[in-house]
Amino acid sequence: MNLFIYIFTIISLYACGDSGNRTNFSNNDVNKKVIAGDTIKTNIPAGLQKLLKAYPDFLDKADENNLYWKDGTVMVWDDGIENKSHDEMLDNPDLEDMMSQQYVKGANWDEPPAENFEPGRIRYEPFFTKMYGSSSGEVQRNLVNVSWLPSICGCSIQFNNVNGAADKMREVSDEIEATLGAGFHKYVSKTAGTFNWRKIAGTSRLSTHAFGTSIDINTKYSNYWQWDGNMVWKNQIPMEIVEIFEKHGFIWGGKWYHYDTMHFEYRPELTIE
Ligand SMILES: [Zn+2]
Repeated sequence: MNLFIYIFTIISLYACGDSGNRTNFSNNDVNKKVIAGDTIKTNIPAGLQKLLKAYPDFLDKADENNLYWKDGTVMVWDDGIENKSHDEMLDNPDLEDMMSQQYVKGANWDEPPAENFEPGRIRYEPFFTKMYGSSSGEVQRNLVNVSWLPSICGCSIQFNNVNGAADKMREVSDEIEATLGAGFHKYVSKTAGTFNWRKIAGTSRLSTHAFGTSIDINTKYSNYWQWDGNMVWKNQIPMEIVEIFEKHGFIWGGKWYHYDTMHFEYRPELTIE
């Protein structure tokens, strides 16, 4: 304690000795030292910091290679397995793999996506089952009804209430109604579903529809790599719609190499600034 007082006194004397006008600068210097004392935080991988920021209801803290949940669960950031192929990352990812590709928000993104560039499609499943539910019944207990575009669709959809996801879905609905003209309505006036406890076709991985945190908009104007039978990226969904979803924490499947342009998924860790 005495040491702190001593250091503070020295800093104050230095600042005052220079010029009276430097008082504000000396305060800034003190602040910088406090922040500098916090540099331990920079050892936490940026991806872990984003997870902490995006899911404050569940996550407590992190260090260089671990994520600590509020309930005491610890998840490893890097599982130590090197040189995974893209398919191996999809099938057996760690948190680091999940956060390894940077999602770019907005209309100015690198279109079409490069081969196997699909931020958000690599998901560490235990992270999501823990929050949203690990069985159909568990997820369903967390679902609430959301009124989706009452003046355009008049639909009621089910969405997961955990992490405020359903609230974000409502915000998207409100903003589409308030800002987009009639020319945009056909893309969102129907939905092809939200909650559905299922695996992704042809895989053993759960779809995020299983968590009740995704929505498919009108399939009539959608493109999906599995339907097209090739990997030639196509899209009809206007970026104005995409940008509204992104603003509220959703990523768009249209920005994936394995494109799925009807698909929006609540993934605040990828859209957070
Ligand atoms: Zn979908």
